Amino acid sequence: MKWIGASLEGDQARTAPVFNPASGEVTGTVVLASPRDVDRAVAESVAAWRGWRDTSLTARTRILFAFRELADRHRDDLARLITDEHGKVLEDARGEVARGIEVIEFACGIPHLLKGEFSEDVSTGVDASSIRQPLGVVAGITPFNFPVMVPMWMYPVAIACGNTFVLKPSERDPSPSLLIADLWREAGLPDGVFTVVHGDSVAVNALLDHPDVSAVSFVGSTPVARHVFERATSSGKRCQALGGAKNHAVVMPDADVAAAADALTAAGYGSAGERCMAISAVVAVGDADPLVAALHSRAASLTTGPGTDPGSDMGPLITGAHRDRVAGYVGSAESEGADVVLDGREIKVPGGDDGFFVGPTLVDHVTPSMQVYRDEIFGPVLSVLRVETLDQAIDLVNANPYGNGTAIFTRDGHAARRFRRDVQVGMVGINVAIPVPMAYYSFGGWKQSLFGDAHIHGMEGIRFNTRMKSVTTRWPGAPASGAESSPIELHFPSGDNR
Ligand code: NAD
Repeated sequence: MKWIGASLEGDQARTAPVFNPASGEVTGTVVLASPRDVDRAVAESVAAWRGWRDTSLTARTRILFAFRELADRHRDDLARLITDEHGKVLEDARGEVARGIEVIEFACGIPHLLKGEFSEDVSTGVDASSIRQPLGVVAGITPFNFPVMVPMWMYPVAIACGNTFVLKPSERDPSPSLLIADLWREAGLPDGVFTVVHGDSVAVNALLDHPDVSAVSFVGSTPVARHVFERATSSGKRCQALGGAKNHAVVMPDADVAAAADALTAAGYGSAGERCMAISAVVAVGDADPLVAALHSRAASLTTGPGTDPGSDMGPLITGAHRDRVAGYVGSAESEGADVVLDGREIKVPGGDDGFFVGPTLVDHVTPSMQVYRDEIFGPVLSVLRVETLDQAIDLVNANPYGNGTAIFTRDGHAARRFRRDVQVGMVGINVAIPVPMAYYSFGGWKQSLFGDAHIHGMEGIRFNTRMKSVTTRWPGAPASGAESSPIELHFPSGDNR
């Protein structure tokens, strides 16, 4: 196992600080890989690939099972590292690890998942089959908000399929990936099959341009996803680039208001809104006042504080700059005429004066032209938009450039069915605010939330990480059909007697 740029192995020319977002203190320094470091990592990955590709499915599966056991045993260690560098509350970090482990469990089924197809006698004496083969070196580039789960969406599947994997995690919370590398080594993965390269856009671009990288999985913001997709595919690489989001929840007049408000409070403020599946826009159909009152009372009762404090419901944001950006959106909503019902900008967290905190914020009477609605905020800011009909709600959701997740709250099956059919969004919840697919389904949005065709993990993950080959076989001496008995035929066989 190798990791480059995290220890003092890299060129060391450039570094970045790592913060504890709850205290604002710098707790570490991450070395940012140079293109030379990336070359070295990819060279080791290429060298490891031939051996790993030829490792039997049985042997690969045993390593995956061992890795799953180790990840399970180290759940709390991983969660603590997440909380230290990302800031989310420990229980939420444990949930993140749990959802990641589910993808390892899915990948443990690789002998079944990689089975090909076989048809006997497609023509007399001729058999046809299809097999899926690994690609080579797959690079993964991941965001700060799920430093364990999002990489786990990628590498268990890529490695199970017989690829080697180079992970470039977010430079904001780099430590969990190093523990993961240790766990792979302990599980028996050969050196070079999983490599961590710490860095920033320099390392990313070096991976995107590298001729020996066959495929790129990216998760992050939309502008970077677009850049990654265009640059990777322009050099012939396969690429899936999952981008940002603006997720809407439509609440119908017949919805259970208390249940919807509970779910939307969790979906809007969990992880301080730093989730790509967070709900940030509530579209209330009809009279919104009871819903706004219910959201207000729940949001106001949340405790914002350090993620390590068991009393905290919500932790800090990732950096001071991001806290200021989120606060700026609340200011813009105010000046554009929205009603800031609950304002988290001035929150006081005992002992957290230097932490990057914004409290739960609720903004009512938001319109689609306002900046607070147009942009992805990625903070604990829930906007309420008011419409009269389901048609208007669906049109509003569909007019948004993002299409990651959405939800409808209703008791009416017809309304839910209409919504499910007509909404242009990749992941839909019906009375479920955060419809994250299980590991054996695939995760991905539509429109500006995904560049490329393949969603991540599940069967789409298997297809993304392999290339199909079709094989047609005839052995000498096999009986030939009448149509093919002439010595040489230059035309396609056309008869019914193949
Ligand atoms: P980001 O786009 O800033 O960074 C993502 C990765 O790209 C990081 O590894 C970073 O080092 C690298 N990067 C940053 N700028 C780059 C550049 N100019 N060129 C090349 N590489 C660059 O995203 P983030 O702030 O770490 O994460 C938050 C974003 O990720 C949000 O927009 C969120 O919606 C999105 N996200 C999406 C999903 C999804 O599944 N669609 C999941 C999680 C997060």
